[in-house]
Amino acid sequence: MLLISPDEAARRTYDACVIGSGASGSVAAAVLAERGLSVLVVEQGGPIPPGADGEDHEDPDGWAFARRDGRWTRDGYPWTAMALGGGTLFYAGMSYRYQQTDLAPPSSFLGAADYDHWQVGLADLEPHYEWIEYQLAIAGPSRKQVGDYVFPVYHRPSLPLTPPGAALAEGARSLHLTPLPTPVAISGVRDRFGPGCAQTTPCTSFSCPTKAKADVVSRVLAPAEGDVSVVVHTRVVRLVASSPHRVDAVEVLDRENGTRLTLRARRFLLAANAIQSAALLLRSTTRTEPDGIGNRHGLVGRHLAMKNSVYVRGTIPRRLPGYTPLRHRYSSVCVLDFLTGEAFPDGIGGLIHEANPWEPAAEREAARGTLLQVECLVGDRPQAENRVRLSRTRDRDGLPRIVMDYRPHPADLRRLAVLSERAHDILTKAGAVDVREVDTAYELGSAHLHGTLRAGRDPRTSVTDPFGRLHDHDNVWSVDGATFPFAGNPNPTLTIQANAHRIALAID
Ligand SMILES: Cc1cc2nc3c(=O)[nH]c(=O)nc-3n(C[C@H](O)[C@H](O)[C@H](O)COP(=O)(O)OP(=O)(O)OC[C@H]3O[C@@H](n4cnc5c(N)ncnc54)[C@H](O)[C@@H]3O)c2cc1C
Repeated sequence: MLLISPDEAARRTYDACVIGSGASGSVAAAVLAERGLSVLVVEQGGPIPPGADGEDHEDPDGWAFARRDGRWTRDGYPWTAMALGGGTLFYAGMSYRYQQTDLAPPSSFLGAADYDHWQVGLADLEPHYEWIEYQLAIAGPSRKQVGDYVFPVYHRPSLPLTPPGAALAEGARSLHLTPLPTPVAISGVRDRFGPGCAQTTPCTSFSCPTKAKADVVSRVLAPAEGDVSVVVHTRVVRLVASSPHRVDAVEVLDRENGTRLTLRARRFLLAANAIQSAALLLRSTTRTEPDGIGNRHGLVGRHLAMKNSVYVRGTIPRRLPGYTPLRHRYSSVCVLDFLTGEAFPDGIGGLIHEANPWEPAAEREAARGTLLQVECLVGDRPQAENRVRLSRTRDRDGLPRIVMDYRPHPADLRRLAVLSERAHDILTKAGAVDVREVDTAYELGSAHLHGTLRAGRDPRTSVTDPFGRLHDHDNVWSVDGATFPFAGNPNPTLTIQANAHRIALAID
């Protein structure tokens, strides 16, 4: 991997240009380079030092307004890290595989009867999951099973349960549930990257000070063999198509000096995350596509799907042995017993896992006791009215801000309410008092982003084909989470990466 300037990149025509160096972009770039293609990765952020706070690397201005309960607000949080490595620098590393129902939920879940769906099943992803789990050395509960959910064989043993995690596991077991260690992209043992996780530093929302968390650049992009060049602090403004059905360049903004340049390639891969990739296509208007590239049927940006979530928090009124309050600590235990169940609308539930708080106030709350907190997550069903579109106002780069219209579906809120009751039971059994819900404000934007360029076979109901290629453009693919029609219940990044690997191997 070679870091070069945008000026140098402008002197060449690459076989492939990957837009975004995050979870999906780095995987796709590495695969294409190893297949012998010359690859240029364009990233709007820069390299991140160990121990950095993710909040310092968000886009402060690019988002416009999320619409909550019909009212406008500027408080949106559809999160994006501007970073070489994207979200993987700051994520919590929870690395579940999806189940078949996450990839192909019942059609009642997907709404439109004429939509023929993604056509990707678990068997299609299996070898790609194996590849990424090996690259990231996922630590998890090998071969354990909860209902229909079977964990694969992992390359590292699970991380130890934290004291709150052990209490939660005990609470869950006393309800005859099967709590298991959360599978994570975090090493608990020394390896060539460092000494392993010492559990003494903040994890979620921070880059790892000890390199125990497997960000995609150190584990996949940097070690890739082949011709990969990376430009940083460079934002793709729009795709440039000089003839119908074919893009031949991107116009970029060099954020270091404010100049605009044209970078050329034969193939283009969208990996900017489901919101940014859709916005990029909407910004890319041409004479024949006045509403944006790939948007002949007005579908680009629609069906935005995230996760509905809530925290459930309580306090054990004594200090558990070994407990020190540490915000942002990794998740050590998960409960997957409620992925499905008759109590949930449509029979699909969600997952519960330990999620240690972020706010300083929570640390004070735990001053004398032990704070327990879990996150309840349910994948969002797609709705055409939930969408990304462009604002008439401009951001500091002079580009239209992004508007997000989003309202959760009432049936998904009912699923979340059932899951929250189950979480209350677990915390109460664990000995916690003052058990209550804490808002995650997910409806103002979440970190799990899907649906805006959904995949399918029919161009009238989908934006890309099942391999992420735009129906209307032969040389443009989406490799991020945008093609997933349903958000799925588990955290998505491992599946996004497995899918990026699948697509990059198939690109012609
Ligand atoms: C605090 C936090 C914790 C999380 N924890 C987990 C977890 O435990 N497990 C999990 O599965 N997921 C987790 N996630 C979500 C995870 O980070 C995302 O699912 C994942 O990063 C998405 O991958 P991506 O490739 O689509 O986009 P990203 O990783 O976000 O990468 C997109 C990249 O594109 C760049 N970009 C965007 N627009 C442009 C442009 N116009 N030009 C150039 N570059 C551009 C961005 O700067 C960014 O680097 C978490 C997220 C957050 C914020």
